[in-house]
Amino acid sequence: MSSIILEARDVHYRYPRGMEAICGISFHIRKKEKIALVGPNGAGKSTLLKMFNGMIRPDSGLMLFANQPIGYDMVSLRMLRKRVGFVLQNPDRQIIAPTVYQDVAFGPTNLGYSETEVKEAVTTALRHVGLEGFERRPPHQLSGGEKKRVAIAGVLAMDPDVLVLDEPTSGLDPSGSEDIMELLDELNHEGKTIIISTHNVELAYPWADRAMLMLEGKILEEDIPEVAFGNPEYVRRAHLSLPTLLELYIELQKRGFHLEGKKPHTVLDMMQCIETIFENTLGHIQPGMITVCNVDQDNREYLSGWLSRRQGITVGAMGTRAKQNAEISQIRLDFTYGVIDKCILKALLGEDTLIMTTESMVQRVNQRVDAYCRESGIRITVNQLISAPESANEENGSLK
Ligand code: ADP
Repeated sequence: MSSIILEARDVHYRYPRGMEAICGISFHIRKKEKIALVGPNGAGKSTLLKMFNGMIRPDSGLMLFANQPIGYDMVSLRMLRKRVGFVLQNPDRQIIAPTVYQDVAFGPTNLGYSETEVKEAVTTALRHVGLEGFERRPPHQLSGGEKKRVAIAGVLAMDPDVLVLDEPTSGLDPSGSEDIMELLDELNHEGKTIIISTHNVELAYPWADRAMLMLEGKILEEDIPEVAFGNPEYVRRAHLSLPTLLELYIELQKRGFHLEGKKPHTVLDMMQCIETIFENTLGHIQPGMITVCNVDQDNREYLSGWLSRRQGITVGAMGTRAKQNAEISQIRLDFTYGVIDKCILKALLGEDTLIMTTESMVQRVNQRVDAYCRESGIRITVNQLISAPESANEENGSLK
């Protein structure tokens, strides 16, 4: 088990002249976890999140960071806020400078970085969130999703260990929300602990490692999502709805279908459940191949040629840089979220797919497909696109 990064021990908090907003909460969060705090308005999610970086100090109980009680003097808070970045629900309240560059530079400048270090931190952060080239833009002219990205970049520029985001998808359309969740996945994959609050059960359910259901300042339930969201009584009390996939699973079980394996998090998991019911009717199809293109290898031209010989092939992109790369090369993307699973689903129908992604995520494609193959006993081949002359079936070097 990885080590604990944040902990609460029986914390209570009452706003001045207000009701008790946090009523005795205890939990621990491990490094590199993805946590979703889920609950109705007024449940205490924002209040609790603000305790993570010392913005709110509990009236009683203890908050700990890296096993040390949080100190509330200026020096301790400064150190804590470098390591725990906070992204407010409303980016207009977080973005203060007249240009994107100045806004993202605010944190590192305050931390006393040199001019060169600030520039590097800003460039890296903007690159991460896919806003290269936006440096001189006034933030008020950006879309909701872009503003959210600027706010995230402002926090990333300080390279925190933990990212806390209050309602990161509020005000965004479904595709903007998926983009943000994907960015959070990418950051988590690179080692950051991510904690979000949300009402959106459908987004939280497949995304989180653990979900905490909150109501009236307390944690109702805290567990892996299929357990936390799997208790209809808690879900009802927390004014939430069951995630659709979980509801479908429960309904199938009620009708006497014997379902093997874990509860479905994704459509791919659900297909596995259903296929066991129908005795793997798709088993006779020769699975399609998944090709992975690492866009960090500067293979744009080669990729264009490769794609032109495969008209209509399904293409997905994972990660902001890969999506930008696709846009520059005018590659139409079929999938921009949940890409690996969707490509596995295509493979099961016998179709080939291409996944455009970045260096750090290539291995993740392999791991996910391997895990699926192990669980299902179905063999799906993953190849890496390598810019070598295309010759006698040897255009792709195998990753494995
Ligand atoms: P959530 O994020 O789950 O919507 P909040 O943490 O914002 O919940 O609010 C928890 C409780 O604290 C609510 O009853 C809310 O009315 C109250 N509250 C939040 N902010 C303040 C404040 N600044 N002053 C007084 N009461 C507040």
